[in-house]
Amino acid sequence: MAQRSGQTVRDLRRSSRSAVLQRLYFGGPLSRQELAEGTGLSAASVSNVVGELLAAGAAEECGSVDSDGGRPRILLRVRPGHAHLVGVDVGETQVRVALFDLTLTELAASDQPLSDHGHDVGHVVELILTGIDSVLTSTGVDRGTLLGVGVGVPGIVEQGDPASKGEGVVVHCQTIDWDAVPLGRLLRAGTDLPLYVDNGAKTLGQAEMWFGAGRGARHAVVALFGSGVGACVIANGVPYRGATSSAGEWGHTKVHVGGRLCRCGSRGCLEAYVGAEALVERWGRAPAGSSEKEGLAALLAAAEAGEDGAVALLAEAAEYFGAAIADLINLFDPERILIGGWAGLVLGPRLLPAIRKAATAYALRFPRARTSINLGQLGPDAVTLSAATLPLWHFLESGGALTRPPAGQPVLA
Ligand SMILES: [Zn+2]
Repeated sequence: MAQRSGQTVRDLRRSSRSAVLQRLYFGGPLSRQELAEGTGLSAASVSNVVGELLAAGAAEECGSVDSDGGRPRILLRVRPGHAHLVGVDVGETQVRVALFDLTLTELAASDQPLSDHGHDVGHVVELILTGIDSVLTSTGVDRGTLLGVGVGVPGIVEQGDPASKGEGVVVHCQTIDWDAVPLGRLLRAGTDLPLYVDNGAKTLGQAEMWFGAGRGARHAVVALFGSGVGACVIANGVPYRGATSSAGEWGHTKVHVGGRLCRCGSRGCLEAYVGAEALVERWGRAPAGSSEKEGLAALLAAAEAGEDGAVALLAEAAEYFGAAIADLINLFDPERILIGGWAGLVLGPRLLPAIRKAATAYALRFPRARTSINLGQLGPDAVTLSAATLPLWHFLESGGALTRPPAGQPVLA
């Protein structure tokens, strides 16, 4: 009994600490009184929890504000250098690894292009591991302060046993020929850091909700427009996953039965009409040897200059995109649709008015009238940052415990 009640007290303390930490993280700087109001905890509980967070170095004082006639109130915030996170983006053309402090300020990054091996699994794993070494060595960050490595990948991610700390993760991605790739086990062979792997679109969706244009919404869809097309459906504040975590493969919804061949092997997918790869290919006038990003920029420039083929192609893409957004509106009734991804950020400013118009033309009137369609706020490197939110979320939920605290630092249990 003693042990069980001890456990309960510890759990309660951890959950109070998690509540205060999350409030401070997303809303800081805040005074103790504001923390009590925001969390519903008593002033005494907040005072205890803040004392623990200050002693462990997870929070720090940062000035004060006057209170009406009383003593000035000390302001508190999360201490950026308390812990660090690694975010990895296994992208379409490169592997990007970035190191962040606790408040997600990027401290170092390593961009490594995928070689001729394409998405050969051994090659990708090697780039991830050398990237992690490179950002840690260049900054000299203490490995004990690392909360873990978040990895955003294309395709469907099976999490496996949570107790395996990421080792059980298996990835399926038809478009890059990954068939049941045991990514967790392969990475674990080269690093003992905690691993968190998820679909890049889902992590980006979560990050837009926390730090970008989704703040304050409960129901949203983040539509990702890159080489291919994907979506993260946020239902009641969390990404909707489905039975096998594969929900949101919006790019492979059919816009034309029997239509263009898609990278997934099927025909008539949205991605085969509006994905950047498909657009550049269909335009067919990109300078020889240019990358997909250069090709898309050339297509946009040609449209801006009034070239008929480019104007017509982008107009058609906007209509397909808007019609597919109308499907999202009819299916999920979101408050907001946010268009992100590198191609979305490049083409979005030109296409947004036509996308909105097409969405209005194709969606049911009632839900369309209550949905806004805007561009996401996070930049083109957002997938590394959003992948880093995977270990960050674990840290905030667990009440701020470090995996391996540096020697001499009080431990949050
Ligand atoms: Zn497809």
